[in-house]
Amino acid sequence: MAKQQKEFVEAITSQKEDFAKWYTDVIMRTDLVDYSDVKGFMVLKPYSYGIWELIQHEMDSRFKATGHKNAYFPLLIPESLLKKEEEHVEGFAPEVAWVTHGGHEKLAERLVVRPTSETIICSMYAKWIQSYRDLPLLLNQWCSVVRWEKSTRPFLRTSEFLWQEGHTAHATYEDAQEETIRMLNVYQDFAENVLAIPVVTGQKSQKEKFAGAQHTYTMEALMHDGKALQMGTSHNLGQHFAKVFDIEYLDKDGKLKNVYQTSWGTSTRMIGGIIMVHGDDRGLVLPPKVAPIQVAVLPIAMHKEGVLDKNRELLEAIRLQGIRAEIDERDQSAGWKFNEWEMKGVPLRVELGPKDIENGVATLVRRDTLEKFTLPLEGLAEELQGLLDDVHKGLLEKARAMRDERTYTAVSFDEFTEGISEKKGFVKAMWCGERSCEDEIKEKTGATIRCLPFAQEELGSKCVHCGKEAGKMAYFAKAY
Ligand SMILES: [Zn+2]
Repeated sequence: MAKQQKEFVEAITSQKEDFAKWYTDVIMRTDLVDYSDVKGFMVLKPYSYGIWELIQHEMDSRFKATGHKNAYFPLLIPESLLKKEEEHVEGFAPEVAWVTHGGHEKLAERLVVRPTSETIICSMYAKWIQSYRDLPLLLNQWCSVVRWEKSTRPFLRTSEFLWQEGHTAHATYEDAQEETIRMLNVYQDFAENVLAIPVVTGQKSQKEKFAGAQHTYTMEALMHDGKALQMGTSHNLGQHFAKVFDIEYLDKDGKLKNVYQTSWGTSTRMIGGIIMVHGDDRGLVLPPKVAPIQVAVLPIAMHKEGVLDKNRELLEAIRLQGIRAEIDERDQSAGWKFNEWEMKGVPLRVELGPKDIENGVATLVRRDTLEKFTLPLEGLAEELQGLLDDVHKGLLEKARAMRDERTYTAVSFDEFTEGISEKKGFVKAMWCGERSCEDEIKEKTGATIRCLPFAQEELGSKCVHCGKEAGKMAYFAKAY
């Protein structure tokens, strides 16, 4: 092994050796984040913020296409507003950050930095919604929220994170339910067709649902270490908040009625999902649609006459195709550059040297398969989008195969424990529906119910843990 390659490979702990260390090595070595002076607060460097911008762009167009508009609500929420809905405040109280002073003066009422915006948005909706003609009201907000976490990990759990939160109001329960599922479907489509991450969708148990929601739906993905990651949630809030905040409208029949609401959110956590689903021992593997750099152009022996010109020409042609490309003209060896771009997870690498130019070809390397091949230089730029699409398909198929391989079925509690603790992955099993049973399962195995999937299977009629009658199958896993 060449010296430089060795250095690179050694810089990243292997996944098998220590997955948590691998994760930290990858995010630090690829320049995604840095730690700030306040514990738990993270700096998103340009490479990860670039991924987030692409996520935003892709999601936002899907939100707009389903009739939503963006708005922005204040960062600070008066304590009295947060306290209005009891279940909601209890859910968030342990992790809110308080603002007690404005300058040198103590505030008459404490303010919280939003942990989520239901309460402040509801207080506005009460003013804005008067008639059935005002419904549905379909808004989304891009912002950051603060939840004071005791132990944090970049992207997965940080005290401040970036997200979007959709908040809608409807005339009927059915309309709200339809919206809740519609947005979950938007999320699933996004996860699979943009991030190349296959997800399981379904309903959360009462224990795991959002504080104040009637029903919470989720999409769950399986990471390389066998743990689940909740990638996004969609809540049917029913009329809980509408009643507390007096969001009423005058219906066609002349009667005053409370609206039905939904909220739905996804966050920078998804970047953690991208890293842990697609990454390997060489570093990141980015799905092409959210890769800030989709193609890296590497001039080989660039001091030789005409090489740099030909490479720059190729770069221009690639960019004209609407592909995000960069040329690496740094004074480093070719080997160093190969490793660097591989580590950064750039989907395609194009190498162009004097020999290639002479033969009228370029050498390409796919990051997902590490497959190396040549293509004619003529018309090359036009071929790349198709190759990027192939990389996306390849990543999705690989991730789906990994997940399916590590999804186990348990009928007995021994099988259940084996699936969670030894084989490590999703375990499908029947569950009685009781909270105490769910608590005991978590205590014994560390696993939680990730969801009661829409795609139910008949795995017998008895709860895998307590043996009582069970009507529903659940996905269990340890989770981030
Ligand atoms: Zn049970």
